[in-house]
Amino acid sequence: MDTYSRYPLELVRGQGVWVWDSDGNKYLDAVAGIAVCTLGHSDPVLRQALVEQLDKLQHVSNLYRIPEQEQLAAALRDRSCADRFFFCNSGAEANEAAIKLARKHGHRVRGIAEPLILTAEASFHGRTLAAVTATGQPRYHAGFEPMVQGFRYFRYNDIASFESLLAACEAEGPRVAAVLIEPLQGEGGVNPGDPAFFQRLRQLCDALNILLIFDEVQIGVGRSGRWWGYETLGVEPDAFTMAKGLGGGVPIGALGVKARFDHFQPGDHASTFGGNPLSCRAGLTVIAEIERRELLAQVQARGAELRALLAALTERHPTLLESSRGWGLLQGLVLREATITAPDLVKAAIAQGLLLVPAGPRVVRFVPPLVIESTHLHDMVERLERALQSLAKLTASAAFG
Ligand SMILES: *Cc1c(COP(=O)(O)O)cnc(C)c1O
Repeated sequence: MDTYSRYPLELVRGQGVWVWDSDGNKYLDAVAGIAVCTLGHSDPVLRQALVEQLDKLQHVSNLYRIPEQEQLAAALRDRSCADRFFFCNSGAEANEAAIKLARKHGHRVRGIAEPLILTAEASFHGRTLAAVTATGQPRYHAGFEPMVQGFRYFRYNDIASFESLLAACEAEGPRVAAVLIEPLQGEGGVNPGDPAFFQRLRQLCDALNILLIFDEVQIGVGRSGRWWGYETLGVEPDAFTMAKGLGGGVPIGALGVKARFDHFQPGDHASTFGGNPLSCRAGLTVIAEIERRELLAQVQARGAELRALLAALTERHPTLLESSRGWGLLQGLVLREATITAPDLVKAAIAQGLLLVPAGPRVVRFVPPLVIESTHLHDMVERLERALQSLAKLTASAAFG
């Protein structure tokens, strides 16, 4: 079905940070399947692990114990604030599990008949009906009304907006079950969370027994240079979701929760494919390789380098570029209003052999594989500058025409 406006590009092969199209053209990939291919394309270690798992056992369902799933849960528990995990296949699905957990928390812990979940404007939580309702962007709702009941929105990083929404919702007694929020908004424009805002959020949720849930689907699993985005904020969530980078390209999602907030009982939630041996082997391999190759430190260094390169680029093109922002290897380049748009720049970059992805109309996003090297970053920014120059020429000739 026609659900995507695709670029006229057929990608057929990848190796590390490079991909090739069906005409044999080569592209430097700063998209990585939208923050998914953590170890790059065709990683030999991930390939070998998956081949071994396919030879052993691929899928049996959650009617039985799955050792790879238990190992992945233990690996995630040892590297995060969560104790228990539910496995599924995508980010939206992980958030659906979080939303169900939040509602059960509202009923059981706060005694609320019709619990509310508070989410941020400009957020992105996925495209299934509840996840898209949680997404605080009206353009994703249009045409799919009625939306799911029980969601209210506040302004991201704005404590006054949050406090007034909370007060309004709680005016006649407990109504709020949970807050669902990204530590850094990815899709909504690469907006890093403000530690002071998140620390205040944590206090307010603690005071009222409101579940604080982080959506780590994009920033989690090492992309920030730490395992989880919340580590940069100095705030632990009660539960958090992950997906994109966890399987290195194999579909997998998960909800992690602290033991005392694990309200799920047998029968409450399920997934046929969730936590199958193959996807869990992928997750285990990604985690092991992040550590073996010391990628967290690499991401911190490469992220700082990319930031500096983008800042210098912004200084060279002040009429087109406004600023850059982000954590680790999730960086956004902010374009000046009424000059060029993010989709224009992404198209111009393709012509220079560089893949990028917009984050809204004015921000171009960089989410390369975590294994990217310094030389690639320089190559990337050179290609980007050529793309900018090609657009500047067009803009100039349009102005004179
Ligand atoms: C991509 C994304 C999702 C949705 O993930 P899918 O796997 O596409 O369902 C949810 N939350 C955030 C923060 C994301 O970036």
